[in-house]
Amino acid sequence: MPELPEVEHLCRHLRSSIQDATITEVHLRRPGIVNPGEKRSRASSRDLLLDGTICNLERKGKQLAIEVEDGRILCIHLGMSGRVQVIKRNESVDLEPHTHCTWLLHGAPEAREIRFVDPRRFGGLWTLCSREKLLSTRWDQLGPDALIVNPDILARRLSGRSRGLKSALLDQGVVAGLGNIYVDETLFRAGLNPRQPAGTLKPDEIQCLVTEMVGILQEAIRMGGSTIRTWLDSSGKKGDFASTHRVYGRSGCLCVSCGQLLKDKIIAQRQTVWCSKCQPLRRRRR
Ligand SMILES: [Zn+2]
Repeated sequence: MPELPEVEHLCRHLRSSIQDATITEVHLRRPGIVNPGEKRSRASSRDLLLDGTICNLERKGKQLAIEVEDGRILCIHLGMSGRVQVIKRNESVDLEPHTHCTWLLHGAPEAREIRFVDPRRFGGLWTLCSREKLLSTRWDQLGPDALIVNPDILARRLSGRSRGLKSALLDQGVVAGLGNIYVDETLFRAGLNPRQPAGTLKPDEIQCLVTEMVGILQEAIRMGGSTIRTWLDSSGKKGDFASTHRVYGRSGCLCVSCGQLLKDKIIAQRQTVWCSKCQPLRRRRR
């Protein structure tokens, strides 16, 4: 399932392949994926950026926004299994099953089409009339982006919270972009227990948490993201980051650091893997 690094990787690829292109045709095959959960009239092709020239591609957390010159915006959330495919000019690629929307392009250096594919349909497309609207609605619900959050801001968002770190860091309203993989990996590298009450961290632990989080995310972006189940990037390549996971997906294995058997349990409704020796739970007051 795509998290921040996968979406950032996609955003960078789209910037280099479709920026400045004009959208000449939009084919929506499954209207239910547009503005899901909102009571709005059916989206038009114009809402989906028809005739717009792409001037900006931006990411916050796990969401991607495509903006055209007159200000219209399409916000994409990949959900559990979503992908954006970029089809090159000289390529002939059959439509995959579960391709819900396609955009034909004019003026892109190499690409002639992009496609939104989402087999499990937890993702979706949101149409917005302006960047202000994006910032005041969908992105207003998100905490600071995990790639650029600073320790002081994170400390403020965690302070006073009794819930565990795993649950707090998965909450997109606390910090945007992390999912199960990068939360488990970050907590392991920072030596913090997933159940440690979020409000009990000392300043040096918050600093360490942020350093490890940003370091892991940057490393994962460089490696093209993690390949978990169905993740392929927009050119169909698998990411390499999964080969570096130290806890995620390693339940039943030994800790790479101390050799003890890793623990696993469902925490915050998600399978969680950690080392109880390297990540001890500390009972203490702030
Ligand atoms: Zn260990």
